[in-house]
Amino acid sequence: MTVVQEAAQEVAEAADPLGDARSRLRQAVEALGYDQHMFEMLASPRREMTVSIPLRRDDGTVEVLTGHRVQHNLSRGPAKGGLRYSPDVDLDEVRALAMWMTWKCALLDVPYGGAKGGVRIDPRNYSPAELERVTRRYTSEIMPIIGPEQDIPAPDVGTDEQTMAWIMDSFSVNSGHTVLGVVTGKPISLGGSLGRATATSRGVVHVALAALADRGFEATRSRAAIQGFGKVGRSAAVFLAEAGVRITAISDQYGGIRSEDGLDVAALEEHVDRTGSVVGFPGSEPLDGELLVECDVEVLVPAAVECVIRADNAARVVAPIIVEGANGPTTPEADRILEERGQLVVPDILANAGGVIVSYFEWVQANQAYWWSEVEVEERLRVRMLTAWERVSAYATGRSISLRAAATQLAVQTVAQAHKQRGLYP
Ligand code: GLU
Repeated sequence: MTVVQEAAQEVAEAADPLGDARSRLRQAVEALGYDQHMFEMLASPRREMTVSIPLRRDDGTVEVLTGHRVQHNLSRGPAKGGLRYSPDVDLDEVRALAMWMTWKCALLDVPYGGAKGGVRIDPRNYSPAELERVTRRYTSEIMPIIGPEQDIPAPDVGTDEQTMAWIMDSFSVNSGHTVLGVVTGKPISLGGSLGRATATSRGVVHVALAALADRGFEATRSRAAIQGFGKVGRSAAVFLAEAGVRITAISDQYGGIRSEDGLDVAALEEHVDRTGSVVGFPGSEPLDGELLVECDVEVLVPAAVECVIRADNAARVVAPIIVEGANGPTTPEADRILEERGQLVVPDILANAGGVIVSYFEWVQANQAYWWSEVEVEERLRVRMLTAWERVSAYATGRSISLRAAATQLAVQTVAQAHKQRGLYP
């Protein structure tokens, strides 16, 4: 590990996504003039479940893993949110991610509350058969609180459409009939939606292009740096390149690469499929992955994990536009620094909402057993993303506040209204 990586790891270990989420909620509640009761209501998850997952490993030994499912809010509909497999998962992180899902669904007018799940596991160290056993056991443990009308998981970091197929199957076998609407992000053959796999990236690119235009940059004269080459970063690179943006730097968990002439994204995809990482891509120069956020580009897309733009490195971020493909990549202190310097941050609850929008479309289609064309899905996604972008930009401009403050206030207002209208029971 380099000195820069060591320093970054120390700061990342001190990361506090739940503290960040609550402090942004506090600011929104104050700006909207709500009282302490409303803050408490919106800051505390409605329901949480922590389970042990005993796993028989392929060599016959048994290991006990821990999993969580947090339902942050249920005021506007069933809880909704991804399931994460990562060695860094802990309950507070899952709570923060669940809260962000509530705001995301409210902001995009998707009729769900927010949830998130996590299992503390490094999936790279487990065989597919072991991951299947983990997923099926986790599903049966949380089965009492999930379902198409209760809580609908989806893929997140470390999980994919195969994970969703196992969840759907375990839930269905235990219910005695096939339940397509219990998860989204399923394979197409099992009731998945066309366009779901690339939806988050498409949404990121719709708002990135809108932000570039807003700041007076032409896409074909702009450069982008992307942190992460997984479910979000990879297709974001493809779609940005299609729009004529030059992709000059990309990183993944193993390191980074750069090329001022622009990286050939199609060739990079082949390289990653063959080697498992962007590192060593022919024709590129190596880049310390930690320094990706500091690249001199017009658009920076952090599309990996939380707390990567922090007080210690925000002043070195030079991109005029930051589009948050990841959940929670910028800490509140970093937000302040970027705002003071006039940089535009398109916040996660807007920028990466494409995934949950098409999850909603998938759930609607599965519940009706009637599927839409890809063109229909893509067009509805585009309209929702751009409508939300316009609404957030107008609200922010009208009040001279950041896009994050605007998006959070709009979302919190929607959820608070639903909560007030339903009233307290009993
Ligand atoms: N995990 C994705 C997110 O953070 C998708 C959630 C979903 O589709 O429910 O937005």
